[in-house]
Amino acid sequence: MAINGGCLCGRVRYEVAGGLSGADHCHCSRCRRQHGAAFATYADLDPADFRWTAGAAFVKVYETSSGAGWCFCSECGSSLAGTVNGEVTAITLGTVEGDPGVTPGFHIFVGSRAPWYEISDDIPQFDERPPAT
Ligand SMILES: [Zn+2]
Ligand SMILES: [Zn+2]
Repeated sequence: MAINGGCLCGRVRYEVAGGLSGADHCHCSRCRRQHGAAFATYADLDPADFRWTAGAAFVKVYETSSGAGWCFCSECGSSLAGTVNGEVTAITLGTVEGDPGVTPGFHIFVGSRAPWYEISDDIPQFDERPPAT
């Protein structure tokens, strides 16, 4: 199932051809600042399935020295995707149109969560990332 989404102003649009493989809420301080919110919700994808279908020229990427990056619309500021070493590995679940077919399965980086936000659901929480399986 292809997933489509886009930014607030409508200039940037994307497609994920192969659908999404899972989702999580990230409470790390970087995502909190980038979103201006208690946490950021991402859905994972196969980078080969992802493409910008409109407005790619408006997409800006803020990348840190760790190789993690955030894609956002330079016109309206919508946070659209997460990158690792320049490759889109996740999209922000809030920018998906319709039912994304996944729901968040866990909270990550709960060790750095905002002191003013209480997690009140029952999905698993990890101080950083879930242990590798
Ligand atoms: Zn926009
Ligand atoms: Zn994060």
